[in-house]
Amino acid sequence: MTLPRHGVSLCSLYQARQRIAGQAVRTPLVRSPALSARFDAEILLKLETLQPTGAFKLRGATNMIAALIERHGRDALRAGVTTASTGNHGRAVAHAAAHLGVPAVICLSRLVPANKVVAIEVLGAEVRRVGRNQDEAFIEVARLVDEEGMTLIPPFDDALVAAGQGTIGLELMEDAPELDRVFVGLSGGGLLGGIGAAIKAIRPATRITGVSLSDGAAMWKSLQAGRPVEVEEVASLADSLGGGIGRDNRCTLALAREVMDEHFQVSEVAIAHAMVDILEHEKLLVEGAAAVGLAAIVEHKLDVRGQKVALILSGNGVALETFDRARALAGR
Ligand SMILES: *Cc1c(COP(=O)(O)O)cnc(C)c1O
Repeated sequence: MTLPRHGVSLCSLYQARQRIAGQAVRTPLVRSPALSARFDAEILLKLETLQPTGAFKLRGATNMIAALIERHGRDALRAGVTTASTGNHGRAVAHAAAHLGVPAVICLSRLVPANKVVAIEVLGAEVRRVGRNQDEAFIEVARLVDEEGMTLIPPFDDALVAAGQGTIGLELMEDAPELDRVFVGLSGGGLLGGIGAAIKAIRPATRITGVSLSDGAAMWKSLQAGRPVEVEEVASLADSLGGGIGRDNRCTLALAREVMDEHFQVSEVAIAHAMVDILEHEKLLVEGAAAVGLAAIVEHKLDVRGQKVALILSGNGVALETFDRARALAGR
């Protein structure tokens, strides 16, 4: 038997899968002929862009809210759920709450682009703009929890949330049983931690490759320091990878350290080229955070020849002006 990794066991991953079935999409894993030829490898794309909210975070939010209803009853959530988010998680909580019949308040920092705010409001959740970064938005969340009895749905640092994201790992193992390597965008670590927990339980030889931003990557610094480190949030094409990992990180820092085999940082120019490549050759519009795997292969000249490689196309929440910025930066 495999021991649970920081609360994420194979059992909790399969329970998550059961809970999110019918709420989140079991996304396809498609081969990219253009990228496979370019790198002399088998490059597979996991299309989380096909989730109804446009990003994988629906998996984690749905799993946590459904698990709380299962354990404590719907009445325990009548004051509603709340979170702070750089956008995709807020949208995920709004969508999951609406579908599970629970009210939601989403707190967003002022750096979050306007398109993401509107996308949350149309799902029926209340949006509050507070603070300059995710940590500041969390102060309002804490108040809603303490004073108004709301329930926090954290964007990454929770075993139920990570297990929800980790259902991607179960699907990868089924669709590509001999996968050599998976590239995962890494910010708070729920995505990489969950996928890693699933894959390391099933096929430990598959390499888990994390990719972070060059600037403002709290997880990079925290892994080096061995404890949560706070960083200044920097505007990036990959805005979904911004934000801290939380001063009191309980789960995902340790989980990421345990399941990740290698870790790269990518520049804005490399992200810009990858976003344009994916639109041009795959005809898929992705946000910067979804392009970092490709950016890492190109920028670090990684040798993936002969390998079966999965790239997690984690989301499509990109504003047109952000895509224009990517094209300008890439010069194409
Ligand atoms: C949140 C997010 C990530 C990173 O996930 P973490 O669990 O915070 O590491 C990557 N891509 C997209 C599109 C996201 O929304």
